[in-house]
Amino acid sequence: KPKAEANGAKTEGNGNKTEEDDKDDKAAQSLLNKLIRSNLVNTTNQVEVLQRDPNSPLYSVKSFEELRLKPQLLQGVYAMGFNRPSKIQETALPMMLAEPPQNLIAQSQSGTGKTAAFVLAMLSHVDPENKWPQCLCVSPTYELALQTGKVIEQMGKFYPEVQLVYAIRGNKLERGTRLQEQIVIGTPGTVLDWCQKLKFIDPKKIKVFVLDEADVMIATQGHQDQSIRIQRMLPKSCQMLLFSATFEETVWNFAKRIVPDPNIIKLKREEETLDTIKQYYVICNSKEEKFQALCNIYGAITIAQAMIFCHTRKTAGWLAGELSREGHQVALLSGEMQVEQRAAVIERFRDGKEKVLVTTNVCARGIDVEQVSVVINFDLPVDKDGNPDNETYLHRIGRTGRFGKRGLAINMVDSRFSMNILNRIQEHFNKKIEKLDTDDLDEIE
Ligand code: ADP
Repeated sequence: KPKAEANGAKTEGNGNKTEEDDKDDKAAQSLLNKLIRSNLVNTTNQVEVLQRDPNSPLYSVKSFEELRLKPQLLQGVYAMGFNRPSKIQETALPMMLAEPPQNLIAQSQSGTGKTAAFVLAMLSHVDPENKWPQCLCVSPTYELALQTGKVIEQMGKFYPEVQLVYAIRGNKLERGTRLQEQIVIGTPGTVLDWCQKLKFIDPKKIKVFVLDEADVMIATQGHQDQSIRIQRMLPKSCQMLLFSATFEETVWNFAKRIVPDPNIIKLKREEETLDTIKQYYVICNSKEEKFQALCNIYGAITIAQAMIFCHTRKTAGWLAGELSREGHQVALLSGEMQVEQRAAVIERFRDGKEKVLVTTNVCARGIDVEQVSVVINFDLPVDKDGNPDNETYLHRIGRTGRFGKRGLAINMVDSRFSMNILNRIQEHFNKKIEKLDTDDLDEIE
């Protein structure tokens, strides 16, 4: 049973998050974003580069041709629909492909092209004549490892001499096996076993070591230790690469232990803003009244697609039922769903098959559905202490930079408590949230 399914179910409603929940949460979010995302995140920020040797010239490329890739790989890159390197790839690829190999720590938000970059680096460094593992990539979970493996398979489609093997639970090999595949992708525990106990891999022959999703990895102490033990078995000459979507102090400390003498590339997250959003609130007295207000809004304005956030799974389920009875095509995202099921729901919504997505806070945190123009907070976001969750509010309704289309946010207020939350959110962002009279809706269009 995939671990990720526990996410949400355990955390919702009670504040007792365990380390395991936290890790599942991060891993699930990361996987969902990968499953959903079909293209690059647009970013206006510039990369920051810290070179190990500040005197060496810094190369960046504007095309894949400049990289002098093997023709089979260039073909793979174009077959994936990539025309030019992403922001992070512009500098990361020349560094990773340089001779002699350089170590790299790279941080940028998910969807900026990190995976594609290190996959290309691994495929480039392989000698297909040599029938033994030369590149080793560790991912925090089984599902994430499979996902990265798919990218390797896709990009290496025209390079069939290069083979890939998954070092993940369930993949049992006979004792005494010596792997012939040049690339190994897996989770830390199994990879360590294959290197140390079972000796399927000779770590001394590894030329490229990739540690992906470092921030998710370190959420589990065991993974952190295993990763370090793997790293220690590798030769000094091995190229070490580490990637992370976020960069807290803890990630940084871990990264320094994994990657000696690193070059560092950072790309700031695109800031979200409320500037292009019209924010309203509606006063109601009960959830039934909130539902009625919602119907009035639907009757008054044309809503292409909306996302509706509820505090609990119960409310979300109830609301989805009521909306379907009204004839809406509703998608429901719920905590008890497995991560693949959730991805399927979001994907259908993204493709426009459903027009309304009802979800709880926990389920949709950190997930980007870009085309939604209307966001409804059926319940306002609060943290476990009952304080306004400003960050979640911003993430739900905010838009990034100048790419953001105009949007509409409607907040349902049903008590003095929620009025107080609303006021505090308004103060925090210093942006007025207008009162909306749902019996007279001329003003919002
Ligand atoms: P990350 O690892 O940072 O989350 P990915 O490498 O998974 O990012 O890339 C995000 C999405 O963008 C994927 O769908 C990937 O296929 C696509 N992609 C990556 N690099 C490029 C590129 N240079 N041009 C177009 N699309 C790209």
